[in-house]
Amino acid sequence: MAGETKKKKGFHVDESELMCKKGCGFYSNPAWGGYCSKCYREVYHKARQAQIESDEMLARKLDQEEKKALEEQKHAQSAVPSKPFSKFEEKKRQRNNAKSKSVKTLFKKSPTSLPSKSASTDVSHSALERQLSTESEKAFNNFSEFLKFMNKPAATDIAKLCKGIVERIQKSTDLTIEEQSELVQDFYHSIEERMNTSPTFRNLTEEQCDKILDHIEKFIMTQLYSLLFCPPLTDDEQKDLAIQNRIRRLRWVSTEMLEALIDENNENVCKLIEQAETELIEMNSKRAPVDKLSCVVNCCKLVFKMLQVTKGAPASADDFLPVLIYTVLKANPPRLHSNVQYITRFANPQRIMKGEPGYYFTNLCCAITFIENLDAQSLAISQQDYEDYMAGKKVPPGSEESEPICDGLRLMYTNLTTLEELRFRQNRLLDDAKMLQREIKEWRESVTRQVEEELASKPVITTTSVLPVDISADLNQDHFALLPAPLKPEVVGSN
Ligand SMILES: [Zn+2]
Repeated sequence: MAGETKKKKGFHVDESELMCKKGCGFYSNPAWGGYCSKCYREVYHKARQAQIESDEMLARKLDQEEKKALEEQKHAQSAVPSKPFSKFEEKKRQRNNAKSKSVKTLFKKSPTSLPSKSASTDVSHSALERQLSTESEKAFNNFSEFLKFMNKPAATDIAKLCKGIVERIQKSTDLTIEEQSELVQDFYHSIEERMNTSPTFRNLTEEQCDKILDHIEKFIMTQLYSLLFCPPLTDDEQKDLAIQNRIRRLRWVSTEMLEALIDENNENVCKLIEQAETELIEMNSKRAPVDKLSCVVNCCKLVFKMLQVTKGAPASADDFLPVLIYTVLKANPPRLHSNVQYITRFANPQRIMKGEPGYYFTNLCCAITFIENLDAQSLAISQQDYEDYMAGKKVPPGSEESEPICDGLRLMYTNLTTLEELRFRQNRLLDDAKMLQREIKEWRESVTRQVEEELASKPVITTTSVLPVDISADLNQDHFALLPAPLKPEVVGSN
């Protein structure tokens, strides 16, 4: 039975559960409905394409009807055709404007999205400079610095493209966040294509291309951050608050309940937990998705280290997720949902679909899903206990120390525990000593008793085989006569 409940605990995921359900070999994400970014977009594109096609069909139908009506009108009053025709033009223009929201038309170069001035190849465009915050100024300087190391035509090309996408997004305020995400993703894709095909980038290695893509992402996303992070038309902010509250109420969840195999009493593990929490919290202060992703990677590496320190051996991927869940619960990172959404929408998909960052990011998404769905059963505790803990009516036994306390107090609690243990051991030592004393006493008594018994059962009998000697008889005068004469002192060898 106990084994069964243990199995029900879903804190371990199979590698396969992290992968895209289409089986393409990339990592999936709940936000993409279990697909990887690539497959999700294919599915999404198909649905959108169908929508666009049906829209176009409708538009064509309307067009034909209008033309028919117009011709009829023409026949009827062949005098002044200018006025109704201008009306028709007006309608057509309106419809075109409405259609411009569709993704397809966004990629046609509209005259408004790219001003004629964009022919200027310098990055330090005044329009850009106007909206620079300190943060984006830094990114801007880094980017310019980075461009200096590239050949001139390539640098010019990249600068122009980046400026174009930033301006395009800034002007596309009527788009949904998904559409904006798609614009940015398509931009990454087009840059990649360009680097693969354009002769300007021919001499670049794959590593250099990756670096360029990272720099581009940092540059454009730092500038678009305020526009695209937690946008007002989404429910991101509500979800941030919901998850934050939930984590706060789950403060009582212990490593034992999660089967997180780390030793919290180990000083080194404690330090690693704190560092990992800091990384997660710091994620919110970064602006570029690639930098936020780095925080996730750092945090996850620290989680592996905690496991290694505890076990004294390299940790398995199986042990990883419970500890990550525990770290997220302890850190309660600000705007967690928004940050994950932002990375999902605007990071270069190549980063989150594969490799180390992809693996860790997918695990973080899993951890959040677990936290959202956590219940009594998954923690193997009774429903009543779960409700009481959630309501703050009581705390699980032995969890008082997990309350938020300062380092000094934590140290004191640890020392008290150590003292308690010492006292226990001292008492045991004392008991043992007393017992030893008693045993020695008993042993001595038993030896004495045995000797006495032996003595009592076998009394000592001394046999008198020697004849009595008359000492006074020895001192007879006759005996003296037999003795030689005593030596007399005399002088020897004197001349
Ligand atoms: Zn896929």
